[in-house]
Amino acid sequence: MGIKYSEYDRLGATASSLQPIDLSDEQKKVFWAFYSNLDSGKALFPDLRGDLLLRVECPYCDMDDCIEIDHFLPKNRWPEFSIHLSNLIPSCHRCNHFKSARYGKDGTALYLHPYFSNFNHSQYLTAKCVIEKSGSISFHFDLEFDNSIDEDATTCIKVMFEHFHLLERYGKRAASHINRQNRMLKVVFSNGGFSAVSDYLRFLADSIVSVSSVNNWEAVLLNALSGDQEFCSLEHLSASLGK
Ligand SMILES: [Zn+2]
Repeated sequence: MGIKYSEYDRLGATASSLQPIDLSDEQKKVFWAFYSNLDSGKALFPDLRGDLLLRVECPYCDMDDCIEIDHFLPKNRWPEFSIHLSNLIPSCHRCNHFKSARYGKDGTALYLHPYFSNFNHSQYLTAKCVIEKSGSISFHFDLEFDNSIDEDATTCIKVMFEHFHLLERYGKRAASHINRQNRMLKVVFSNGGFSAVSDYLRFLADSIVSVSSVNNWEAVLLNALSGDQEFCSLEHLSASLGK
């Protein structure tokens, strides 16, 4: 089994090219029972589930709390990986639900594997805000790729964003996220005007990138807003985001 686990880790994001081991029904049940013990936090690895869920934000969306453990390769098809650490992804309920038991075929990854996929060299997520004459603001995310990410990975990212509804989820979350920043933005603006707000937003974005990635939705949003003169003018904040 150690060889299989090493092979999984070598293949990483494309581990779905591994053929499942031909196990008897009884053998499959043994693996699932091991996982059940792990999942209920007792017996085999009493602290492992708790340790996995210590991660605060779901690595699929970088947004919601981790409350479940996803099997990157579904445990029904690959029972032997049901307890392999590299295959256990702490995740939020929605990502786990949207992902379900889907997996890549023929060695082509269907989704980004949080432990093996790293595209920090290329920003493909973009954000912008639209400020209406009425003062209401909406936030919109999109995907834009350059040629620094190959075709398979680009497809994989697009599929993941579609299946996980990430663009819509980010857009909705952005409004409440910025609303919570309103008071601080006003303080910053009163002390240094437009440029201070812009610098502050960029500082926050850089702080997030330093511990996450250039495609973290929050960093992308804050970076986009830092370069938006209309947003940083704060006139609309007074009008629409409250006191
Ligand atoms: Zn998630």
